[in-house]
Amino acid sequence: MEIQKSFKQDGACLYLVATPIGNLGDMTPRCIEILKSVDLIAAEDTRHTKKLCHVFEITTPLTSYHEHNKGSKGEHLITLLAEGKNIALVSDAGLPCISDPGYEVVAAAIEAGYAVVPIPGANAALSALIASGLVPQPFLFYGFLNRIKSKKKKELEDLKYQPFTTIYYESPHRVKETLETMLTILGNRRIVIARELTKQYEEFIRGTVEEVLAVVDELRGEMVIIVEGAVEKKEEAAWWQDFDIIAHVDYYVKQGFSTNESIKRVAKERKLAKNEVYRLYHID
Ligand code: SAM
Repeated sequence: MEIQKSFKQDGACLYLVATPIGNLGDMTPRCIEILKSVDLIAAEDTRHTKKLCHVFEITTPLTSYHEHNKGSKGEHLITLLAEGKNIALVSDAGLPCISDPGYEVVAAAIEAGYAVVPIPGANAALSALIASGLVPQPFLFYGFLNRIKSKKKKELEDLKYQPFTTIYYESPHRVKETLETMLTILGNRRIVIARELTKQYEEFIRGTVEEVLAVVDELRGEMVIIVEGAVEKKEEAAWWQDFDIIAHVDYYVKQGFSTNESIKRVAKERKLAKNEVYRLYHID
């Protein structure tokens, strides 16, 4: 067990700092203050973050931390924490770690005994969810489905019966194909597309999958798909599913029931006429 008191600790700290998802007005004073005060900012794309820093007059040095250098750079960041340096981690937009790099260095920092402190702010998933009009909790954040169609289908099949409102991220190039696959696998549920959140052309398209598919060709920009949870429950396989009718009757006979009573039970469980089961058991 390990207890972190974020505001009462001496050692170096890894801050996870939110950045805007489109609207610079969402950069909070606390985020700016932390980015100014740390020794180093680890950014998903330093060119992108440099522009943000320029707007808010943040002069802290930047280093890259992304999907392709997260192993070696993560280790380096831990050695910097060991030297007492405070580090802020940012992604290109929104919260680090949410469909963005960060998780591995967070886990490594905790393992090494450093405090990991969130500095909250914009996030596309929760912003879309709260304005979707779909039941906001319980919810499941899924992030991006696999790009490969067969894998995407499998993922959706696994999600088909889960009853929670589900949040997906999707690129505008794949949204049509994703909605078509959702229609086939999940059925014509209510969905919401939240597009260009916090930006000038922010838009919510609320309807069924079929209704949204009718307008999807025109949709551009960044988007979140919110999908209503399943109403339908998965039918549990019957315990006798692998028995043929004779084995099913024999099961009850072995339990001590009369043949007649066993036939009656089997007919009821299989929703068959009693004389049909009788015929199959005694005659065929
Ligand atoms: N870390 C980010 C967050 O906290 O929301 C998400 C980063 S993920 C790489 C990028 C995806 O988030 C986009 O493809 C889109 O699905 C969603 N997204 C980001 N900004 C958005 C916006 N302004 N409007 C709608 N969706 C957005």
